Amino acid sequence: MVKGVTRQHFGMLAPPSLTRRHALFLDFDGTLVDIAAQPQAVQVRPDVVASLRALHEALGGAVAIVTGRTAADIDRFLAPLHLPLACEHGARYRLGDRSGGVAALRLQPVLDALRPLLQRHPELRAEPKNAGIALHYRQAPQLEALCRQALEGALRCVPGAELLQGKCVLEVKPTAVSKGGAILRFMDEPLFTGRVPLFIGDDVTDESGFVVVQSRGGLGIKVGDGATQALARLESPPALRAWLAGAAAALAGPRLPRAAAGEGAR
Ligand SMILES: [Mg+2]
Repeated sequence: MVKGVTRQHFGMLAPPSLTRRHALFLDFDGTLVDIAAQPQAVQVRPDVVASLRALHEALGGAVAIVTGRTAADIDRFLAPLHLPLACEHGARYRLGDRSGGVAALRLQPVLDALRPLLQRHPELRAEPKNAGIALHYRQAPQLEALCRQALEGALRCVPGAELLQGKCVLEVKPTAVSKGGAILRFMDEPLFTGRVPLFIGDDVTDESGFVVVQSRGGLGIKVGDGATQALARLESPPALRAWLAGAAAALAGPRLPRAAAGEGAR
């Protein structure tokens, strides 16, 4: 049992009390923000930015966003914060003044396959990224099979790529990357190493992250319904926002020496 954690309904744990020894990894869509009709229409509440800023300070900088979005998107939504980032499902990362990632895919067959599809169905939306591409069908969920068929066909001509299913989105990404792999990379960095990792996410694309943090003595926290390998759950993005605000308030104030602060939670 992770210290500071209690059982809740259906055998899932409630989130633990955050300590200064934790590292916090957070998905964005469906986690920090409610999912919107279009990806660019999400609303970031000011209290979320305030909580993240306070927690970044309280945890000595060990707060990272782990998302399928691009870095430009996250920086714009969370401005003026400039947090450590694993974006595009781990294909890109940023930590301090360092950044990098895997090589971009050669996506021409995918673009060729999508062109007629997008012309016939303007309610579909393609989102080019640096390392891959996402096809959103939230406005036309009946087209999911058609979208999948087109992308799977195109991917036969794109070595090193795979299809990732999210919530009303299909993403073409490099095979070798995952959110779990991105979190492992961070945990090997001095800023994060030795800390107890928490990863909070809402989608099947977050499952690899849950497994990784739990293998490192931490806890995966699933936001919302659905089967998961995470051991803890929060019911919704508003519930997460309340938890973040509470954690930020509890950790506010000057740092105490470790012994005085009662640190040592796992
Ligand atoms: Mg999400």
